[in-house]
Amino acid sequence: MNKISCDLLVIGGGASGIGAALKAAKEGVDVIVVERLNLAGGILNQCIHNGFGLHYFKKELTGPEYAANLLSLTKDLPIKFLFEHFLLSIDKKSKTAYFTSEKGINAISCKALVYSAGARERPFGSLLIPGDRVSGIYTAGVAQKFINIENRVIGKRAMVLGSGDIGLIMARRLTLEGIEVVAVCERMPYPGGLSRNINQCLKDFGIPLLLSTTVTEVRGDGRLSEVITSELDENYNVIEGSQRSWSVDTLVLSVGLVPSTTLMMDYVDIDSRTRGIIVDSTMNTSVPWIFSSGNCVIIYDLVDYVTKEGEIAGRYATQFIKEGKTKKKIPIKKGIGVGITNCAYWVEETDLPLYLRANKPIEKGRLVVRAGNSILYEGKEQAFIPSEMVHKSIKSEQISKIGNIENITVEII
Ligand SMILES: Cc1cc2nc3c(=O)[nH]c(=O)nc-3n(C[C@H](O)[C@H](O)[C@H](O)COP(=O)(O)OP(=O)(O)OC[C@H]3O[C@@H](n4cnc5c(N)ncnc54)[C@H](O)[C@@H]3O)c2cc1C
Repeated sequence: MNKISCDLLVIGGGASGIGAALKAAKEGVDVIVVERLNLAGGILNQCIHNGFGLHYFKKELTGPEYAANLLSLTKDLPIKFLFEHFLLSIDKKSKTAYFTSEKGINAISCKALVYSAGARERPFGSLLIPGDRVSGIYTAGVAQKFINIENRVIGKRAMVLGSGDIGLIMARRLTLEGIEVVAVCERMPYPGGLSRNINQCLKDFGIPLLLSTTVTEVRGDGRLSEVITSELDENYNVIEGSQRSWSVDTLVLSVGLVPSTTLMMDYVDIDSRTRGIIVDSTMNTSVPWIFSSGNCVIIYDLVDYVTKEGEIAGRYATQFIKEGKTKKKIPIKKGIGVGITNCAYWVEETDLPLYLRANKPIEKGRLVVRAGNSILYEGKEQAFIPSEMVHKSIKSEQISKIGNIENITVEII
């Protein structure tokens, strides 16, 4: 077994892992980034559309351009990339992580670790759709990889299930590749993606969006030939008689991303509902030397936020390496209207970088953050939709001056 060591070990070479590596390396810490693929950038490499980088680089880039820009910042810094290495396990006692690689097992010991392994797609099997088990059914990420990276034609006539941003972007991508998209179906009564994507990916291309509708059967002999959709009532039950038959050879599923955390289940606390790693405002997990950031914490809508969160993880992992102490953590409670938040705790003397999603569309509401009875932040009245993440950073001094805080509450009222 090959054994090496470093100050900071980053697992995952996507936008978040690179953010963590950059921040730590700039502070003189030597970093190893371990990536299972043969290149860095993560999911960005297959997202050839634009819409990346407006906040971080102040310009609109494609996914590969964003990755290239980010990687160019790592030049001349003490960052080493180890490609085609897959995390197997972690020994918490000796702070050593074990990886498989072509050359066998590699052990890397470190002083702190940032886990940034992104997210995986919810597969067809998890939807329990009855019918024939046929080819022609792809998750959106796999379809995207086949089309954008491998230049393959995946079908002639398609339906997309799920109207999150990835589903919308793939509906447009399929159309541009000459595949007819008959409809995008969404089980919720409202679309899952950003309004800009509804306009630019569906309306501009005349692709119908069927809300409160889902796929209830798939049929075919070898290859998919028919999809049955059904309308749903307000309790998500199928409305009898609403079934429609669609003649398609391709079904693209965009039914959600799940944080990639299975490998970490034995080592850190994980949210049983979202499957995300539970972190505090320094991106520290339940283990003092393990930090986590990016889509394995919560699913972010913008890559810029993912890199920023990575930087926070890198900064505090570095502080842990240099000072080795941890501070008191105050719980953050989700109040009415709030579905998910990135941090579960605020750490004393740190800023609170809050990212959250509403739990349902709210026509008029105000984001309110309280520490006990004191209001830390009260936003203007605005509309909230679950697909559009809300970001608010609250300065440490503002929270600290309240004193004796037992918890922080975030709500949309
Ligand atoms: C289709 C699509 C469209 C998008 N469109 C936009 C957009 O228009 N604008 C925008 O700002 N954002 C967009 N996003 C969001 C943004 O791209 C992602 O949020 C961000 O890139 C995620 O970064 P990450 O580092 O958290 O995860 P990833 O990019 O997934 O990186 C994780 C890395 O970890 C590696 N890894 C995983 N497990 C292991 C292991 N066990 N061992 C070693 N390595 C491992 C993976 O190979 C991967 O490289 C889009 C995302 C998708 C999927």
